[in-house]
Amino acid sequence: MSTSLLYQSFGVRGYRYVGTRFEGGRTIFRVEQESKTVCCPQCRSGNVIRRGQWVREFRMVPIGGKPVLLVLPIQRVECRSCGAVRQVKVAFADVRRSYTRAFERYALDLSKRMTIKDVAHHLGISWDVIKDIQKRHLTRRFGKPKLKRLSLLAIDEISIGHGQRYLTVVLNLSNGAVVFVGEGRGSWVLDPFWRQLKQAHATLEAVAMDMWPAYIAAVQTHFPGAAIVFDRFHVVKLFNEKLSDLRRELQREATDVLHKKVMKGTRWLLLKNPENLDEHRNERARLEEALRLNQPLATAYYLKEDLRQLWEQADKPAAGAFLDDWMARAQASGVRMLKDFAKTLAGHRSGLLAYYDYPISTGPLEGTNTKIKVLQHQAYGFRDIEFFKLKIKGLHETKYALVG
Ligand SMILES: [Zn+2]
Repeated sequence: MSTSLLYQSFGVRGYRYVGTRFEGGRTIFRVEQESKTVCCPQCRSGNVIRRGQWVREFRMVPIGGKPVLLVLPIQRVECRSCGAVRQVKVAFADVRRSYTRAFERYALDLSKRMTIKDVAHHLGISWDVIKDIQKRHLTRRFGKPKLKRLSLLAIDEISIGHGQRYLTVVLNLSNGAVVFVGEGRGSWVLDPFWRQLKQAHATLEAVAMDMWPAYIAAVQTHFPGAAIVFDRFHVVKLFNEKLSDLRRELQREATDVLHKKVMKGTRWLLLKNPENLDEHRNERARLEEALRLNQPLATAYYLKEDLRQLWEQADKPAAGAFLDDWMARAQASGVRMLKDFAKTLAGHRSGLLAYYDYPISTGPLEGTNTKIKVLQHQAYGFRDIEFFKLKIKGLHETKYALVG
């Protein structure tokens, strides 16, 4: 080891190499600060009186898989220029940490491909230290997202853990970045986010969302000028849920055994898009048989297929006419479930048609939600919710190993 190797390989400059010892599998380098670099940490004056030393150890990047420590007496100085009495600065580390900056960068590099557990094991350091390194890095990168130019958003909820626990996730549709994560799914959850948006003077144009009243209320209260666009996939999904309920009800009411059996086998077929029905498994024929036996079910099924066309119209007026026609047919069907659904759509008409002004959806959030599901299997999601949120914000661009 030499002073220049310290500088070239470990990024430690301004220090003189003193000696090396090996102890319990560890390599320990001793260095000293070069006299000419000792100065006041406050005013940088070299006119200082030495007032004792404090020996510190810093972890360095390992050599050949073995831990390496750097031992250094840190000088305390009294400044003749400004009067401060302080420890001098350490060039290669944050004095509050037990490792060098190079070690930190190395740990972050490894984190791109390895789990926190793996990195900790490889470096012979605790899980918490690696987590802290990641957390500080994520805070620097994603703690305060730039919101000024944000104009198109998607908001959705995601259930986490077991039981009724939710996160509200907000995505910037222009670049796919998660810009906010809140706990819960009430409208108040978004309050801090609206504050940040207003501080950034963002001009929010449109928000894609489910027909969840809390989110609707939140946008209407804080950004009344922004268009609300109800996500087409959520609308169809909601219809599918109602269709399933209807089928179950009709199956329960069916009196003869054959009828019951036919109904029972159609649950998944009803939810499939017709173009996905499997001919080899006779799915189309089985579905048609069930629909033939059941008029209300058939009506609901065909109206579902029609509903998907709401988002395939030539323009907004055509879509408006289409929606009105669909609602009229649903009302005329006499089927309670369809009449209720028509009412729901009528109550959300402008947000459904707003798709033709802003053809956006919460679709881009689906990929993020899948990744969050992977993240949430890790215990740290719940031990440190702030870390979990930062991990979510970093999802779109970090290549960090998802599992921790
Ligand atoms: Zn000074």
